[in-house]
Amino acid sequence: MQIVYSTRHSRHHPALEFFEGELKKFQETPERATIVLEALTAGQIGPVVAPDDYGLGPITALHSPDYIEYLQHAYERWVADGGIPAGVYPDSFPVRRMLHRPTKLSALAGYYAFDLTAIIVAGTWEAAYDSAQCALTAAHTVSLEGGAAFALCRPPGHHAHADLCGGYCFLNNAAIAANWLASTAGRVALLDIDFHHGNGSQDLFYERSDVLFVSIHGDPDRQFPYYLGTADETGSGAGLGYTVNYPLAAGVADEDYLQVLRRAVGRIAPYDPEYVVVSLGVDTFADDPLGGFALTEAAFPCIGATIAQLNRPTVFIMEGGYAIEPLGRNIAGVLTGFQTE
Ligand SMILES: [Zn+2]
Repeated sequence: MQIVYSTRHSRHHPALEFFEGELKKFQETPERATIVLEALTAGQIGPVVAPDDYGLGPITALHSPDYIEYLQHAYERWVADGGIPAGVYPDSFPVRRMLHRPTKLSALAGYYAFDLTAIIVAGTWEAAYDSAQCALTAAHTVSLEGGAAFALCRPPGHHAHADLCGGYCFLNNAAIAANWLASTAGRVALLDIDFHHGNGSQDLFYERSDVLFVSIHGDPDRQFPYYLGTADETGSGAGLGYTVNYPLAAGVADEDYLQVLRRAVGRIAPYDPEYVVVSLGVDTFADDPLGGFALTEAAFPCIGATIAQLNRPTVFIMEGGYAIEPLGRNIAGVLTGFQTE
C-alpha cells in the first residue's frame, strides 16, 4: 500500500491552543505525523512517496476562493497589522444573523473559523496545501492501480467547511480526494471513522448524491463539534438520504463499535461505490485525550478488515489521534487489517 507523506507538515506548529478555559500545549503536533510514519515504515506497510502537485484547482473545487486567499496571506497580514508572531488567534465570531465580512485581519480570522484551534502560523498554508496534495496523490494512485493508498495528511481536514477552518483543520483533504474521484467516477463513499463527527465533509456533500457520507462518532450532544452530526441529518435536495450519521454514547468498546461499523459498511455496499475514501482517525482509542470511546489496540485491525469487505479501491486519509505513543501502532493496525483481509 502506497504511503504519501510530505515533510512540510512540520511547518504548521502552533505552540499553544485555548482548551477547556486555559492556554495549553497545542495537541495536533508534528510529532503525530512522524510517529505514524515510523510505525508504517517499521511495519513495512508499503513504499513512502512525496505528493505530486495537482495545483489549486481540486482545492477550489470545494473551498471558496476568498477563503483560500485568506489562508494564503493571513499570517503575514496579521503580523503586519500588529498581531503576535505566535499565530493568528481569532477572538470574535459572526454567529447567527451577523453577516458583515470585515476587512480587519483579526476580525476575518473569526469570520473564517468556527473555533479556536485552527491557529495559523507562518508555515500553515504550505503544510495544509501539501496535506491536500497528499490526499490527491493517494486518490490518483488508487484511480490508476486500484487497491489502496494511505495519505499521511497533517494538518487533518474533516472539520473544514467550504470557507471555515476549525478542529485543527484548514483544507478538507478527504473531501477534496472524494470530490476529485467523484468527478470521474459515478459514486464515491466517504466513510468517516474519526471519533469526532466530520462536520465539514457532511456540509460539503449534504446536497449531493454522488458522494455518500457515512460517519460513526461521539454523540455531538456531548462531543465536539457539537453543532452537527445527529442521526436525523440525512441530507437535503438531491442529497436526501446520502448522509448517514451514527452518533454513539461515550465509553463504547470494541464489540459494540465493530457492530456499528458493520452496519455502516452494510449501508455503503448497496450504494455500490466505485471508490471508498476513509477519514481515518484513531482518537476512538480508549486513552485518547480528545476522544471518549474505549477501543483497545485489538480493535484497529478488525476495523481495517471490516472496511476491506467492501472490496473497493480505497483511499485512507489521516485525520485525528492524539494519544501519541500508540498512535502509529493503531494506524498501522487499521492498514494491516485491511491488507490481510
Ligand atoms: Zn477527531
